[in-house]
Amino acid sequence: MNHNTDVIIIGAGPVGLFAVFELGLLNIQCHLVDNLDKIGGQCSELYPDKPIYDIPSRPKVLAQELTNDLMKQAEPFNPIFHLNQQAEKIEKVKGNLWNLTTSSGNIITAKCIVIASGAGSFVPRKPPIENIKDFEDKTVFYKIKDKSIFEEKKIIIVGGGDSALDWTNDLASIADVTLLHRRKEFRAAPDSVSKMLSLEKEKKIKFIVGQLNSIDGEDGYISKVLYQTDGRINSLKTDFLLPFYGLKMELGPIANWGIDFHENQIIVDTEKFETSVSTIFAIGDINTYPGKLKLILSGFHEAALMAQKCFSYCYPDKKNVFRYTTSSKDLHKKLGV
Ligand SMILES: Cc1cc2nc3c(=O)[nH]c(=O)nc-3n(C[C@H](O)[C@H](O)[C@H](O)COP(=O)(O)OP(=O)(O)OC[C@H]3O[C@@H](n4cnc5c(N)ncnc54)[C@H](O)[C@@H]3O)c2cc1C
Repeated sequence: MNHNTDVIIIGAGPVGLFAVFELGLLNIQCHLVDNLDKIGGQCSELYPDKPIYDIPSRPKVLAQELTNDLMKQAEPFNPIFHLNQQAEKIEKVKGNLWNLTTSSGNIITAKCIVIASGAGSFVPRKPPIENIKDFEDKTVFYKIKDKSIFEEKKIIIVGGGDSALDWTNDLASIADVTLLHRRKEFRAAPDSVSKMLSLEKEKKIKFIVGQLNSIDGEDGYISKVLYQTDGRINSLKTDFLLPFYGLKMELGPIANWGIDFHENQIIVDTEKFETSVSTIFAIGDINTYPGKLKLILSGFHEAALMAQKCFSYCYPDKKNVFRYTTSSKDLHKKLGV
């Protein structure tokens, strides 16, 4: 699908979300791309229940609460989110515009690109099984987009964290689920663990202590999965294998976009946070400059200065008049207050 906007923001972490607000105040429309299935970046994915103590004017705020509030602050500007997809490729097109292609095949055309990709894309950790690639996206999945494909099928879910337990509990009602985990202790929320254990007691799922060993099958279809328990190899027939080993961060395709980097960070100037490529900006944890602190508040400041320069690209014939949100009637109208 094709979309048009003023600015594409890559990354819907706290800094990308605040950029929507700063750009919105200047009448600049945004589309955001994130390869996670939710907004909030590291805050929502890595530490949603942890309190943060160094957000100005918030003596204590839970990371998820901060995400929710940033979303609320951005709402008047109607940001469009493209979640579950990675920003893969950019190319310059007619009219000094950028086309960004995502891993889902969406093409977004914009005047500027703001890279707010933090420590990089969150990508799944994969089991160290040589031939697993042959089965990926056919019978092996690291995330679930459409659970209806599992109806009445045999599924092996591997892992002991929140995703493994949540999906075990969720899919138990529609599929024949076996949870495979290397030990009896879990990293998941206690509630999810209790629910899984009751389902096991009621014989609605099976739970096996064991380590995934290898996959047998042909043409992308699994015939059986081998796992190790107490030094012995056992096998289990299955239709699908869902390994949930958590996520890791990778710089990803942005590294090949011809932008200047220093040690995996994008070099920016501290006046406008533009990269070595004109009309491409980098804010938040992904950028580097003398004195950079990887803090949320640094990213907020960077977003404000980036927006000022973006304005000159989006409205080359207009003068940007600096206004306070407290006193500008025009800004109040935009904010709906
Ligand atoms: C445990 C922990 C505690 C912390 N505590 C604090 C604290 O107390 N105070 C503080 O200020 N900071 C803290 N931080 C750091 C803070 O979380 C980061 O500074 C902040 O999240 C950076 O925000 P960001 O928006 O730049 O990037 P992120 O939050 O990393 O978000 C970037 C987003 O971009 C997406 N992305 C990347 N590449 C692509 C791509 N190619 N396509 C699509 N999407 C992409 C990622 O999926 C991610 O969602 C903490 C971090 C951790 C891990």
